[in-house]
Amino acid sequence: MGMRKNQSTLTADEKSRFINAVLQLKANGIYDRYVQHHRDLFNSGIHNTALFLPWHREFLRRLELDLQTIDPSVNLPYWDWTVDRALTSSFWGNDFMGGNGVPSGGAVQTGPFAFSTGRWTLTIRDNPAARVELTRAIGSGSSLPTTNAVLRALSRVPFSSFTVELENLIHNIVHVWIGGSAGTRSSPNDPAFFLLHCNVDRQWAEWQKLHPTESPFQGDGQFNVNSPMLPWENEITPPTPGRVSDHIAMGYHYDTDIAVPAPIVDLTVGAPSHQANIGQAGEFDWYRFVSPVASTYTLETQGPSDIWMSLYGPGSQSESALVTEDDDSGEGSNSRIVSNLSAGTYFIRIRHYQATGTGNYSLSVNRNTQPQPGPAEIVVNGPEVQGSIAAANESDVYLFNASQTATYTIVTSGNTDTFLTLNGPDNQNAFISQDDDSGPGSNSQIIRVLTPGIYYVRIRHYSPTGTGNYGISVRRT
Ligand code: ZN
Ligand code: ZN
Repeated sequence: MGMRKNQSTLTADEKSRFINAVLQLKANGIYDRYVQHHRDLFNSGIHNTALFLPWHREFLRRLELDLQTIDPSVNLPYWDWTVDRALTSSFWGNDFMGGNGVPSGGAVQTGPFAFSTGRWTLTIRDNPAARVELTRAIGSGSSLPTTNAVLRALSRVPFSSFTVELENLIHNIVHVWIGGSAGTRSSPNDPAFFLLHCNVDRQWAEWQKLHPTESPFQGDGQFNVNSPMLPWENEITPPTPGRVSDHIAMGYHYDTDIAVPAPIVDLTVGAPSHQANIGQAGEFDWYRFVSPVASTYTLETQGPSDIWMSLYGPGSQSESALVTEDDDSGEGSNSRIVSNLSAGTYFIRIRHYQATGTGNYSLSVNRNTQPQPGPAEIVVNGPEVQGSIAAANESDVYLFNASQTATYTIVTSGNTDTFLTLNGPDNQNAFISQDDDSGPGSNSQIIRVLTPGIYYVRIRHYSPTGTGNYGISVRRT
């Protein structure tokens, strides 16, 4: 999990890695796509609407992931302008953002983004006649917001009041304070944009910590919690305010979020429940257990807290080793994962469902020695099986027996927008294919040549919050 640090605490090496990654992203053309998206969408809902914070959060996270493909050690730093307020701050140093325009309002002459380096030409501009050098007019248009102004914005509730004050009385003024390129629709041309916005993003996280009972986001009539955000609206799972309101769930945190990550706790399969708690907002608890033989295992939390559990492995706790996640399959709002695991070492990550939540829980891992009432069977060429996604995030698993090598068609029916995943043979975790809408209407369909074996079909609603009935059948041709 990447940690975003205050830029004033970066080492010389961290600064140079960040700058180098930005310059490479500029050189390969990806950086300018960000500039273009911000310019083209400037007046299309990303400012002065409820999307201001969610949209810029997604925007920053994508840039950060692009930087990490160049250098995985890089995380976006933030610039806290209530502390580093002077033009003499190291933020504007020659090894980082570079200095003011010369004369003020003119081209930046120092640092890695000076035009003379040959590496920072503004190809995306508000209008074609605008100049191609990065410009700044630091301090000529406004005074930086004070700590008190930030604290006042952070005190506002509900979200709708907070975001309006943060955007207009804090964020806008910082853009104006930098001036030049940072004051245009193409403002990401100034890399300081991303450190400015990283601090704005951090203030949204701080606000959630300060107001744990407030909804982290509110729609404004034009946009709501499920509004897909442009320009990513055609992706399979487009970002929405709801999907970005918990930054920790997006895979990063701030150095101001939590103190020290706790060490990994070893669990024994079949041992009594381990008692623990989420003591701080944003805390992750990590566990490790060894699966001695391939079998079905049940991982379960108990207690009063709304726990979110993620299972990783075997042999790795990285995001790419994620086996599955669960929110509420256990008792109350507890989590339960039942999974067929090969022998090996597995990792469990526990967090509270809410970014600001805390509370007690217990955790156990058991091997299911009794045959489980496992997935229901779909008879190949038999009758359609009727099922239902009764609750948000639910998924149903079925199995079918492919008795011979042939082409198999797995298809859903009904009015529910189903999403289908096919795994196997003889392994619930061996991914083969997935599909959203290849069937009739918004139904799913997978057509594959399969070798003999047991195959597993997982059905969920396309929308994480969607529910509804469906039919499922498998035909061999
Ligand atoms: Zn913006
Ligand atoms: Zn901005």
